[in-house]
Amino acid sequence: MSTILRVALPVPVPKLFDYLAEAEVAVGCRVRVPFGRRQLVGIVVELGAQTTISGPLRPIDAVLDRAPLLDAELLATLRWAARYYQHPLGEVLAQALPVTLRHAAAPAPARAAGGWRLTDAGRAALQEPLRRRGTRIEALLLALAGQVLTSAQARQLAGPAALRSAAGRGWIEAVAVATPPATASSQRHALNAAQQAAVDTVLASSGYAPFLLDGVTGSGKTEVYLAIVRAALARGRQALVLVPEIALTPQAIRRFRDGLGVEVAVLHSGLGNAERARAWLAAASGEASVVLGTRSAVLVPLARPGAIIVDEEHDGSYKQHEGWRYHARDLAVVRARVWQVPIVLGSATPSLESLANVAAGRYRALHLHERASGAPPPRIRVVDLRHQRLQHGLAAPALAALEACLARGEQALVFRNRRGYAPVLLCHDCGWSARCAACDRPLTLHRGERALRCHHCGAGQRLPQACPQCGGLALQPLGEGTERLEEALAARFAGVPVVRIDRDSTRGRRTREALLDSLDAPGARLLVGTQMLAKGHDLARLTLVVVVGVDEGLYSVDFRAGERLAQLIVQVAGRAGRARQAGEVILQTHDPGHPLLRGLIERGYAALAQDLLAERRAASLPPYAQLALLRAEAPAAEQLQTFLAAAVAAAPSTAGVAVHGPLAAPMPRRAGAQRGQVLVESAARKPLQAFLDAWLPALRALPQPRALRWSLDVDPLDLY
Ligand code: ADP
Ligand code: ZN
Ligand code: ZN
Repeated sequence: MSTILRVALPVPVPKLFDYLAEAEVAVGCRVRVPFGRRQLVGIVVELGAQTTISGPLRPIDAVLDRAPLLDAELLATLRWAARYYQHPLGEVLAQALPVTLRHAAAPAPARAAGGWRLTDAGRAALQEPLRRRGTRIEALLLALAGQVLTSAQARQLAGPAALRSAAGRGWIEAVAVATPPATASSQRHALNAAQQAAVDTVLASSGYAPFLLDGVTGSGKTEVYLAIVRAALARGRQALVLVPEIALTPQAIRRFRDGLGVEVAVLHSGLGNAERARAWLAAASGEASVVLGTRSAVLVPLARPGAIIVDEEHDGSYKQHEGWRYHARDLAVVRARVWQVPIVLGSATPSLESLANVAAGRYRALHLHERASGAPPPRIRVVDLRHQRLQHGLAAPALAALEACLARGEQALVFRNRRGYAPVLLCHDCGWSARCAACDRPLTLHRGERALRCHHCGAGQRLPQACPQCGGLALQPLGEGTERLEEALAARFAGVPVVRIDRDSTRGRRTREALLDSLDAPGARLLVGTQMLAKGHDLARLTLVVVVGVDEGLYSVDFRAGERLAQLIVQVAGRAGRARQAGEVILQTHDPGHPLLRGLIERGYAALAQDLLAERRAASLPPYAQLALLRAEAPAAEQLQTFLAAAVAAAPSTAGVAVHGPLAAPMPRRAGAQRGQVLVESAARKPLQAFLDAWLPALRALPQPRALRWSLDVDPLDLY
């Protein structure tokens, strides 16, 4: 007698595959199965559904897990997400698993470091243990009542099964033995009234409760997160904390470890596969009471979920930009609802989506209006560039302010969101400029490397000595990137150490961490950097920020450009004056009267965001419209056009859903491919989902030349 298993396999086909098994295998377990001539690892998603059996089914090769690797909750959430994002379930499940677990390798053994301590729930369980007398669990709880045990001691005393069971019930939790909670708690700040009010409101909620913590930069949002997480731990629950990739610095990890006094499982893209799998399994077993991670950490299973925190919720890095294009903040809200736990989305510059959710009564807003240090908010000043002579992109008032700041012995930051030396290399004699042949965009000059690089496709070439068109020697860099600013500042302020932070100067996670850690050291006085510097780092001596290149953001065609620019300016400005000294921010612009800049400076982000929301509503754009974007690319324009035209023709007619296109992509050519798109828009999610449910099968059935690629992006963040 055999059972039919319905298995999700990591293939780009949105269906389940049926196999036979000798014995029943639990849903959520991995199996190895034959697939064509290959072997694949898939996940059992359903049992014995007798629907579409045609021909003899093949048997599975092996069952890889004794207990389900994906619990029922996570599996259901991922199935929901596969449908919402219109992505094949097998690929969604594979993306949700750490790489090691996607293959046949057995789960890595649990980490030996750290130790265990009793939770409040465990203490309560000890009071009423009649039925548990004499068990290993009771022995363990009794031993832990007086002390913290190392993992090895605990395992020796009670055995792994009792440990797992006690952790699963929330009676014990993992701690870092090196940081006992007592010392950590003594360093805590007492919460101020605004922080306490926010914490109290969250803790007074029950079940699913979404909050937007709208707190100015330096208002102490992290202390609020810590208090909420501590409360979850005290109830024997786990907490999931998401932060943007570049904010997950050693400094940030230390703050959570020390502030909580428990071992924190960290999940980010820089980890080795084994480490990642261990952290994931520790979250699933309940051994890790806190998971701190970037985007993909939203996909971990938690044994005893208690709270979710999403810091810098407006950050674009929460959106996955390839494959299954999920948004981690949005999925975090979905998980909070399923788990019936509170979720706190924090930001100094909330996304318009979250503000609209507050306005609609779906989220509750919590405000921190003042900096925790008592320092005043940074003063923002506009420097009008018209008729000014610039020195390497810096105007005289900005240079004077930098000079004064350095003379006071303080630190200054020159912010420019463009790496490289100059965005354009131009021949002054004949007008030739260096362009990427594959993308039709200017190449960026990287002077240190003596190279020209395309920031869109990565192509590079050596820096030419002479103009390839006229042979002249008048090649000139036009505009400036961080590399040029670094050079100019080093020349202007001789003897002052300049540190540049951008993707070029910080290749490799370790280099980046070391460099970021060095920023607050006495040596670093002048910082030059891209948005990598815009968040997270607490720089006590930084009092001046000069923002270069504001205007590019003002004239971008992207409908989110205004929101993004305002967020970036406020976040960078927030780096200044975090300690007691007042901070100053200088915005260089050719358009000092621009409504966005005026609004931001005179009325602040919150008021400006309301203006932007009104514009979005008037233009029927997100968050007042739901979008899905079909992107396609092919080597030949004709292939592309044929496909896009067929895609539009195949679109079902759904009331309330509009199809726009085929449209040229904002970048019509990239890496040699022709690119185009179709935009689908609807006032509501339901009709859009119904439309996509019908459209996607039709798209998959269209004739597709081998070289043509297409993908669907539900809730796209940008229309590129
Ligand atoms: P945010 O994340 O809101 O920008 P942080 O959480 O980084 O702010 O806090 C900013 C600074 O204020 C930190 O140096 C922090 O230690 C300090 N801080 C936070 N809360 C308090 C408080 N209640 N009293 C004094 N200092 C505080
Ligand atoms: Zn020339
Ligand atoms: Zn290119």
